[in-house]
Formats: sequence, C-alpha cells, structure tokens
Amino acid sequence: MTVAQSLLDRLDDPTLLCTNAFIGGEHVSKGADGAHFAVHNPANGEVLAELPDLGAEAVNTAVDSAYEAQRAWAATTGTHKSDTLKVWHRLWVENADDLATIMTAEQGKPLAEAKGEVLYGASFLEWYSEEAKRIYGDTIPGHREDTRILVLKEPVGVVGAITPWNFPNAMIARKVAPALATGCAMVAKPAAETPLSTLALAVLAERAGLPMELFSVVTASRGAPIGDAMTSNPRVAKITFTGSTEVGRQLMRQGADQIKKLGLELGGNAPFIVFEDADIDAAVQGALQSKYRNAGQTCVCTNRIYVQSGIVKEFTKALATAVAEMQVGDGFGENVDIGPLINEASVQKVSEHIEDAVVRGGTVETGGETHSAGPLFFKPTVISGATDDMLIAHEETFGPVAPIFTFDNEAEVIERANDSEFGLAGYFFSRDVARVFRVAEGLKTGMIGVNTGLISTAVAPFGGVKQSGIGREGSRYGAEDYLNIKYVCLGGIT
Ligand code: NAP
Repeated sequence: MTVAQSLLDRLDDPTLLCTNAFIGGEHVSKGADGAHFAVHNPANGEVLAELPDLGAEAVNTAVDSAYEAQRAWAATTGTHKSDTLKVWHRLWVENADDLATIMTAEQGKPLAEAKGEVLYGASFLEWYSEEAKRIYGDTIPGHREDTRILVLKEPVGVVGAITPWNFPNAMIARKVAPALATGCAMVAKPAAETPLSTLALAVLAERAGLPMELFSVVTASRGAPIGDAMTSNPRVAKITFTGSTEVGRQLMRQGADQIKKLGLELGGNAPFIVFEDADIDAAVQGALQSKYRNAGQTCVCTNRIYVQSGIVKEFTKALATAVAEMQVGDGFGENVDIGPLINEASVQKVSEHIEDAVVRGGTVETGGETHSAGPLFFKPTVISGATDDMLIAHEETFGPVAPIFTFDNEAEVIERANDSEFGLAGYFFSRDVARVFRVAEGLKTGMIGVNTGLISTAVAPFGGVKQSGIGREGSRYGAEDYLNIKYVCLGGIT
C-alpha cells in the first residue's frame, strides 16, 4: 500500500505510520477483493496512505474475537488493567511528537495544537489507568433482617466505537480508556479522513502488551455499513459514537431493535455571552480560544457570541483586531493559528453562513473569504450585527466564523441562548457572583465555562443535553457508562 515519503521523513519512528487495520488481534492489509481507500492531507491534497476498505465481515470477526477476549480481560485484577494502560500511556507520551505529526498531516490542525490534543488524549489513559483500581460496588442495608444487599459493577462487554475526524486522537482516547479500565473490549471505526492517528495508537497498544483482540481498528471509507454491522450484532453490548446529530439519531434508531446501550457525543451550537460587568480582555481571549481552535471545527466551539449592548462596540473592535492578526497556513508552518478546513463541503457551509448573514444585514468585520494558502483555507471571520433569523444562529457552522449578536438584559439572553435543539457547551463572562449562579443554572447545556473558553479535561464529565447527546466522557461518570449494575440479594442470614 502507498505511503507518502514526505510524511515518513518527518517521523522519528516511521513504523507508526501504519497501513494495516487491526482486526481481532491480526494485522489486515487488504479489504475484500483488494478494496482500499486513500487518506489525504487537507492542506495540499497529497495522498498520505492507502488503507484496506473493510466492511461488515471485518466488524463481525473483530467482535467475535473481542467477545472471547473480553471475558478473560474482565477477570484480571484492576491493578493488571491499570499497569497495562500505564505502559500504553507512557508510549503514547514518548511518541507524542510523531503522533502529532501524523495528525497534522491527515487532519490539518497546527502542529502545536495537534501535540496538545495528543497529550490531552493521553491524560484520559492516565486518568482511567488509575480509575481501573477503583471500580467500586456498593452495599445497601437489607430490607429484611436475614437479608444483605450487594451492588456489583460489571463491564458491559464488547463496545463498538465510531469517531469523527476533528479530534482523531482524543475521541478514541475518551472511549477506549474507560472501556478497557472497566473490563470492556472495543471495536473502533475512525473517520475515513483521519484513520492514521488511531492506527498509530493501535501500534503503541500492541507494543504495550495489550491483547489486541481487545482493541480492533476497522478502517473503512464509509461509516454506514460499519454502523449497520455494529448495531445488528447481538454481541455488541454498547455503541459509543461521536459525530453529527443526524448520524447519532440514525444509530439510535438502528440500535432500537436490540435495545443497544448508547453513548452519543453529538453536535453543538454553543452560546458565548459577555455581560457588561465582564473583564472584556479576558472575554476576548476566551472567545479566541473557544471559537478558533481547530479552525472552528470543534463540537464545543462558540457558535453564537452575545454581547450586552453597552460594550458591543468595544468588544467587537477588540475581537476583530485580534482575529485579523491570526496566521492562516499549513499546520506544519511556523506560528500558524488556523489550518485548512477538512473538505470542500466545510468550506461551502462556512461561505453559505457568511453570505446568509450578510444578506440579512450582518457586517463582515474581518475575514469573510477563502485564503490564498489553498482551496480549503478560510480566513478567520468576525461578523457584527448578527440576528436570530440568520442560519448561523441555528446551525452549527463548524468553521472559523464568529457572529456577534447584541442583547439588553440577562433574562432575554438566557432565553435566546437556550433557543436551540442543541445543548452541549455554553460560555459566559461576568464578575457578578449572583449572576454567575443564575446564568449557570439557567443555560440548558451539559457544560458551562464561566470566565473561561477552555473546559475540556479528563477529570470532568464531558457531554450534552437535548439533541447534543447521551452519556458522559471523562471523570468517574465516564466509567459508569461502560458498567452494568447487578444487584445481589443474599437471603437466609440468621
Ligand atoms: P459524522 O458525519 O457524523 O461522522 C462521524 C463518524 O460517523 C465518522 O466516522 C463517519 O464515518 C461515521 N458515519 C457516517 N455516517 C454513518 C452512518 N450512517 N452509520 C455509522 N457511522 C457513520 O460527523 P463529522 O462530520 O465527521 O463530525 C462533525 C460532527 O461531530 C459535528 O456535528 C460535531 O459537533 C460532532 N462532534 C461532537 C463531539 C462531542 O463530543 N459532542 C466531539 C467532536 C465532534 P465516515 O466519515 O468514514 O463516513
């Protein structure tokens, strides 16, 4: 299979650029009839690698192996699971530069940001390697004198994971770390755009001594047949999916026949509110962090900025000035802030949102068009005068566009912020303690950043309400999602 020499040359350990899928402990180099697909660098279109294009058969083989291996893994001690994950974590961190290089090549984000994601992903492995020793059950005082009640926590079993392209390392980490720590096995399907990062993690898992029947990586050009195979296989106990709300909805329908357990991390449309009592400089910094990371392609990205009327001019000017200074370019370039968007459809959606905003009376303060670095590069954009009838007020843009809406009072902005089918993240800036509580309690989202634009960490529960998802990733709540509760009633104790 083809691999790009230009990428191999950048790696300290070229064997991390893997072109085999991992199916039930075997390396698989070919799809049925030799089917394969190419992974491209979005910055320049170069083919980075060709991978086997696998389907339902590979999923079912992986699930059968995982089903057997999972029982043995579940029976090992928490310390054994912990030790194995710790070795994988060490290799993950030791190879962080190469993992970041592979990510920048296939996903486009600036190299420093990619390294940050690799270490963020590793932090989940570290956190859950510690938690593996603390999967505690419970005892409950019996309801009769001769009875004792025990609550056991048991791994759900084999988990099917489907992940998106925007965080190729962390989205896998957030799933595989709690799954293995709790005694589950995983069959993962990374996005077709960015499978090389997951394959590199699998290479390191194998080196760490993880029985690879516990962690299969199915490479495939299309998600639908893989989702079908996972939801229809009775040995798959749970599906964990991160991606669009539309595909999440579809998986929920498909899983209904077998009442599949589901973890869904879906789309967002995060409001970002700046009150007149806020530290405006801090709010601008927060907006830059939460809006433009990964060129605006994160599910917790600010999508709507609401600024109180008395400070809207000052805030808009400060944000537009800072955004105009951001450097756009190839993620391997020096001091680059904004890499390419993932594909042509993303560029079109961003352009459509800007055109619609302008037609409806918005003003482009900076950016507003593609960048000369290449067809997938877009200038970071600020739009003032945004209104609630614009597309950008209701749809996730998934690009580097910040629309600024104006509001007059707290009750009004909470209502407008909540006027969305999504409820993933929300942010606001205020120095009034009573307001901080009122607004944090009033916003209908799963996560809230108060006076900060950065909220993601392995130690806190990440997830949404409304159509943004079901379940949580990270923290002890993230482990609970991979556990069944079994209650044992012991009678006859006299
Ligand atoms: P997507 O189109 O839903 O794809 C996500 C994954 O699902 C990919 O691996 C894709 O595979 C696969 N897929 C597509 N159709 C499928 C089907 N019918 N059955 C099973 N799998 C299928 O989403 P995306 O455009 O890649 O990612 C962006 C979305 O993810 C945004 O909405 C963003 O908000 C959301 N997201 C949410 C979180 C969170 O934690 N809440 C985090 C990151 C991203 P192929 O691409 O190979 O077809």
